[in-house]
Amino acid sequence: MTDLADEHGVPIADIHLILLEAASRLLPGWERLYSERAEHVLRRKGIDVRLSSKLEKVEPTRVTFSGETLSTHTIVWAGGIRAPSLLASNGLSTGRQGRVLVDDYLRVTQYPAIYVAGDSALFVKAGQPLPATAALALRQGAYVATTIADEVNGQPIEPYRPSNPGMLVSLGGSDAVGDLLGVSLQGFAAGLVKESIERLYISTLTGKLPVIGRFRYDKTSFC
Ligand SMILES: Cc1cc2nc3c(=O)[nH]c(=O)nc-3n(C[C@H](O)[C@H](O)[C@H](O)COP(=O)(O)OP(=O)(O)OC[C@H]3O[C@@H](n4cnc5c(N)ncnc54)[C@H](O)[C@@H]3O)c2cc1C
Repeated sequence: MTDLADEHGVPIADIHLILLEAASRLLPGWERLYSERAEHVLRRKGIDVRLSSKLEKVEPTRVTFSGETLSTHTIVWAGGIRAPSLLASNGLSTGRQGRVLVDDYLRVTQYPAIYVAGDSALFVKAGQPLPATAALALRQGAYVATTIADEVNGQPIEPYRPSNPGMLVSLGGSDAVGDLLGVSLQGFAAGLVKESIERLYISTLTGKLPVIGRFRYDKTSFC
């Protein structure tokens, strides 16, 4: 935030960043330790974190949440996405966030000839829907490709077995929190891994080797 303010010549005192979170803690689906770490880091960066604050109304110059109204000209929605409405409007059974309910093979329950992978698929494991992440979407794409090839070749098909290498969430700058391959990470180490993963993904699109050029050591990541 300080770097951006400097870059654009905005006095830092003029910036008041408020984070509204409907749940009683940040990252509600995660372990409490990560929620606490994220809240601590964001508050330390000067962000006004308001928990149990559900957004009710957005107008051009103000927002209303939990009965309170704030004046603002800048609103950033980070409260999640929905799958394209095309899926439901074409008669597919959808659940949370408009995602299509799929069976153990990522096939649409009522149309087994149709596979759905990525954010649009609602695959439920042990009562919990899989999160919408790039890592899972990539693996599901590969699974669907292999399964269709097996079907075409008359081979038996294997059910989809989700494997999640972990999740890291950026806390700004060189700071992050989460776990990777069962190892809990936070601070600078997590930030470095997060940045490396993002660069790696980008390199798969550009075909060029990843470069971690913009990454900066930030001493506050250790606090
Ligand atoms: C702000 C943000 C930050 C994120 N950060 C992370 C992160 O750090 N790590 C992580 O793992 N995941 C992250 N994600 C989630 C990740 O981007 C998604 O899980 C991933 O992109 C899902 O891939 P997908 O192929 O299913 O869908 P998408 O990548 O959304 O691709 C779907 C494509 O289909 C196109 N499309 C939609 N409707 C139609 C139509 N009717 N006809 C033709 N094309 C259509 C869309 O334009 C889009 O290009 C983030 C998502 C957002 C929004």
